[in-house]
Parts: sequence; C-alpha cells; structure tokens
Amino acid sequence: MLSNKRVRVRFAPSPTGGLHLGGVRTVLFNYLFARKNGGDFILRIEDTDQNRYVDGAEQYIADCLKWCGLNPDESPEKGGPFAPYRQSERKENYRQYAEQLVRDGYAYYAFDTTEELEAQRQQTPNFRYGHGNREGLRNSLNLPDSEVQELLSQNVPHVIRIKMPANETVSFNDMIRGIVSFDTNLVDDKVLLKADGMPTYHLAVVVDDYLMKISHAFRGEEWLPSAPVHILLWDYLGWKADMPEWVHLPLILKPDGNGKLSKRDGDRLGFPVYAMNWKDPKTGDVTKGFREMGYLPEAFINMLALLGWNDGTEQEIFTLDELIEKFSIERVSKAGAKFDFEKAKWFSHEYIMRADSKEVKTTILQILSDKGISVADDDFLVNVISLVKDRLTFLQDFWEQASFFFEQPKEYDLNAVKPKWNDDKTAFFREYISSLNGHGNSAPELEAAFKDLAQAKNIKVGELMLPLRVMLVGGKFGPGVFEIAALLGKEESISRIELALSAFTS
Ligand code: GLU
Repeated sequence: MLSNKRVRVRFAPSPTGGLHLGGVRTVLFNYLFARKNGGDFILRIEDTDQNRYVDGAEQYIADCLKWCGLNPDESPEKGGPFAPYRQSERKENYRQYAEQLVRDGYAYYAFDTTEELEAQRQQTPNFRYGHGNREGLRNSLNLPDSEVQELLSQNVPHVIRIKMPANETVSFNDMIRGIVSFDTNLVDDKVLLKADGMPTYHLAVVVDDYLMKISHAFRGEEWLPSAPVHILLWDYLGWKADMPEWVHLPLILKPDGNGKLSKRDGDRLGFPVYAMNWKDPKTGDVTKGFREMGYLPEAFINMLALLGWNDGTEQEIFTLDELIEKFSIERVSKAGAKFDFEKAKWFSHEYIMRADSKEVKTTILQILSDKGISVADDDFLVNVISLVKDRLTFLQDFWEQASFFFEQPKEYDLNAVKPKWNDDKTAFFREYISSLNGHGNSAPELEAAFKDLAQAKNIKVGELMLPLRVMLVGGKFGPGVFEIAALLGKEESISRIELALSAFTS
C-alpha cells in the first residue's frame, strides 16, 4: 500500500564504468513507478569513493538515460529543489550526522592505521572489525576520553564506524520479498565517514535518501546485505518514520541461470551487457553496447521490463505508456531473471519491423556513411528501409541485407546460376532488357512483363527468377525481386543485367 507521502524515487549509481543492463532496468522500474504514481524520478550520482571514480562515467550514465528516453525530473544536469545531486558536492552535509551518531553512542572514532589493520588481517583469517574484536582495537570505545580528544584535536587520521549491536535481529519489509531479517552478528562495523572526510556509500545513501525525501528505494538485490546497516542508520538517526519503502529487484542472471550476468559473460557469449558502448578511459578498451549494435531504445526498454516483471498475461510487446499504466511492484518476481539473448534479438526484430522507416533513417544514414556512402535521395532511402526492415534483427544488419541497393554486386553466386544456364536464358534476358522501356516500372508491372515474356519464350518463370535475383543482388537473398528492380530503376536494372550476363556466359 502506498502511504500518502509524495512518491519520490531515485537511481543512485556510482560513476565507476559502463551501465549494465541491470542498472538500466533499475532506472526503468524507478521511472515507471514514478510516472504511474505522479511522483518524481531523481538521478543522484554517488561519487564519494574517489578510488573508484572513473572519468566520463557520469556523462555516460546521463547519456544512457537520454538514449532510453527515461529522463529524470531532478539530476546533476537538470538541478532541482534538493540540489546538488552529486554526493561529492554535498560533502559538508555528512560529517554532522556521523558525529551525531558518535554522540548518541551508535558510532565511534577508530584510529587504527592501515598498517595496524593489515597486521590484524594477517593474524586473523576473515578478520572483520566488529563486536567480537572492537574492544581490542584503537577506537574511542576503548581509549580514554582525554586521549580521544587529544587525537581528534591533533587531526590524527581517523574514521567513524557504526557500532553494530551484537545478538540482534534487524528486520524490514521489502515490497518484493516481504519481511527480510538479518543477524547483526554477521555484519561488521562498517566505516561511515572516511579519513578524507568523505562519507562512505552507507552513510551517504541514508542521509541523502532522507534529505531528498525519497519514498521508495529501488535497487538491485546485490545491495540486500547492506540493508541492515541502512535500516539501523535510519533508526539511530531518528528518522525511522521517514524511511523509504524498500524494493530490492531480482538479479539478472547468466543465460544458464548460474549466477549474476556480468560484462565478462557478454564478452564470452558474444552479446552486449552495457546499454551503450563504453570506452574505458584508462585502457582505451571498448565494451559493446546495445545502442551501437543497432537496438532501438524502445525495444531495449520493453525487453528490460520483462526481465523480472510481467503483467500477468501473455502480452510481450508494450509501449512505454502501457508499461507505465500496467507496472506494479506486486508483479515483480523474487527470483532472478535469466537473460536470454535470443529473446532480446526477437524484441529488436519486432521493434524494427514496426518502426517508422523515417524514424530509423538517421541511424541508417550513419551506417551507410561508415561505408563511405552518402544518399541524396531521401525517398529512395526510406523505400529501401521499408522494404528490408522485416529482415533485420538489428539495425546494423542493414548493410548486409541492403548494400546492393547502394552499389552493384561485387561478385555473383555463380553456383546458383551457371549449372542451369543456357543460350535461351541469355536470349530471354536480352529481350527482357530491351522490352523494359515499353512498360511501367512498378513491381507488379515489371513482374507481369517478365512472366509474359517467359511464357512467350516457353521458359519456366521459376528458372528465371533466381538468375534475375542474382543479377540484381549478387546472391540468393533479399526482398521480392521485382520490388528490388522497381526501386533500383530501369537504367540501373538494365546495367546490372548486362554486367551479369557477361559474367554468367564467360
Ligand atoms: N551507489 C549504489 C550503486 O552504485 C546505489 C545503491 C542504492 O541504490 O542504494 O548502485
């Protein structure tokens, strides 16, 4: 049940690299939920971990959202009533809350140096800073007050850690999973504020969800183990009444269902896992994206919506508006969703078939220009797209399926033609060429003339169609052969038939 709080949801990525399709699905579910409930969708950049920060990743995330058409109402770029939306620019906000937790006995200063902690790790396998050992470590729980004050006034590097209670159960309601419980003994004393004064993710996410009045927190299931820390922080900071509803989304699994789908699986199995091409600024390596593969954004959204959600019917094709209307958290499944690339291809094909040829023209022009081809005749291009689009799985297949419209075949599938070639056929095609100017150039007219001539010459049409195709296209593929001839025009068709005749008869 929705409370009467205004719906405000956020996508809160850390800018550490390319955007995995699971991330885009989180964006999508946030977006659908916000739109459905007349709420706000916020993009907040969680960039407090300087070590993981990657140049260009924030812009990339913003571009992905734009490409998908899932535009936030508030974001670093757009601003909004709770700006700034980049955590690194909110640094001043966090320390006071960490200090408040220390004052109230829920957190403590820890002065252990990196070397000391390293030594502990060497000594104790699976060392975890927590209730079992914190008494023996260098922190404000053990050191005398005066020493703590002294260390603080000398600015001795320190962190603030949450004091996880021992032997307690932290429970909360997740809108997908129901009641989820954690044993606090299994959770370590996470750092909340780092020595550089920056908050860790745990503190920042809670403080900002509170300050930005987030009503529902959607995020991937991989964040579930962090939830007990967050729940306790909401409680310890005195904000429990304002805590968002939790919505941990199911994982997107490898095609065989064995574990979470990773970028490496994509590389291994030959499909993209990122929304758009991502170029690692350090290595220069490019990871392939759905966009560059020629996937339409509407298809991408539709495919993602069904990874872990369905509307309870067999319907698979949904517009964004339909998704907004039909989306409900109750119908998001608990179980992980297997990523099926064959299904992803099916969505792509369906959307390209349904796409308005004019709308995909820009992408097609780019594909052609990459091949060094510029097309001046807009109508011709739109007609070609309309003719071949139901043969494309991805827009990138356009060149393979339609290159012959833009250049003459470089070679012919002679095996398909030569064994049955004879002088009668040569004569037929010569006559066909000279008859072409005597009638119209529409596909039905061309077909009728072709068939009439075949009949007059007493040659089976079936034996002539394939050669005609090979003459115009180079091989045994493509849409209807008279449609192709009509689009190429008489002059070009004649020239191709002549060229091919010399190849067939040599
Ligand atoms: N900054 C976290 C991430 O990188 C966000 C997790 C959350 O939404 O709480 O995904």
